[in-house]
Amino acid sequence: MTTLTKTEDAAAPTGSDSFLSVRDLHVKFSTEDGVVNAVNGLSFDLERGKTLGIVGESGSGKSVTNLTVLGLHNPKSTTVEGDILLDGVNLTHAPESQLESLRGNKMSMIFQDALTALSPYYTVGRQISEPFRKHTGASKKEARDRAIEMLTKVGIPQPTLRVDDYPHQFSGGMRQRAMIAMSLVCNPDLLIADEPTTALDVTVQAQILDLLKDLQQEFGSAIIMITHDLGVVANMADDLLVMYAGRAVERGSVREVLKSPQHPYTWGLLGSMPRLNSSVDEPLMPIPGSPPSLLNPPSGCAFHPRCAFTGDVGGDACVSSRPGLPDGRGSACHLTAEQKQQVFIEKIQPRLG
Ligand code: ADP
Ligand code: MG
Repeated sequence: MTTLTKTEDAAAPTGSDSFLSVRDLHVKFSTEDGVVNAVNGLSFDLERGKTLGIVGESGSGKSVTNLTVLGLHNPKSTTVEGDILLDGVNLTHAPESQLESLRGNKMSMIFQDALTALSPYYTVGRQISEPFRKHTGASKKEARDRAIEMLTKVGIPQPTLRVDDYPHQFSGGMRQRAMIAMSLVCNPDLLIADEPTTALDVTVQAQILDLLKDLQQEFGSAIIMITHDLGVVANMADDLLVMYAGRAVERGSVREVLKSPQHPYTWGLLGSMPRLNSSVDEPLMPIPGSPPSLLNPPSGCAFHPRCAFTGDVGGDACVSSRPGLPDGRGSACHLTAEQKQQVFIEKIQPRLG
């Protein structure tokens, strides 16, 4: 079974033809309390037309990673190391002017909270049409028509009237949809959706996910989907990255990770996430304790203080050495491939159902 490692290595992507390639990304914040190590050596690839799902508890570095890709971090208090290659262009130290022209056009983000993205001072229509005018050179009339079209697509009733409203005249759910319209108006090549539908009811949520799929079909957009919802992951994503304490701890195709997860953290996470076809809200398998402080993360495997399997690994490996994550399918855990499989089949799978 140790040959499994070989197969994993063979499946490792070269990264050469990927549209977005993040290599050994580190993001640190200087704060009054010390340095927050929010992202610690993260690498992933994403091809055009594909969707990468990112899951992980709150505070695992999902939003920081993606804000950094878009260059939306505060350069004064943030240190970024590593490479972010978008279509072959290294964005890590790109000038703000270059990032600004890429944002909203080539790459855009749907935020968790619409209020971070919408200005209270301009009408919803103007905020949707402005980036469109800027990047396409469309006339005012054309851009307004485009804004109305986008509001229609995201399911805003009476779009020809609501286009002239200010954000405060919209309900929370409508603001979220307006912000999504704004993110999609230029048909971005890279769309980052950070918990895009959490605040929306199920029907609207399905409508928005369909819209993202349409965008992808038509324009071959690459999508990063950060979500707590396994249903969304299963429905939308091709590949899945599981993050813990600013690192990827497991990666693979969605099918592989959902069907035979390998990392103890993923086991806990899958057991505690909302599931398809389940009316049970209670976590099946809660993870004990809480995520670590990134000011002073645990030694070795950052998950070890919460992990039920350090005894199976034996010795002090989990405390003293950090397991690496292979490229391609794999997980960063000291359990052997046989142990992972055996524990999963005997103890975890029956509980996940
Ligand atoms: P999530 O996975 O929930 O999206 P985040 O990426 O938002 O997590 O945050 C990762 C870590 O970085 C958290 O510990 C958070 O408190 C910290 N963090 C995020 N932004 C800042 C900031 N501007 N200054 C200091 N710490 C930050
Ligand atoms: Mg977040």
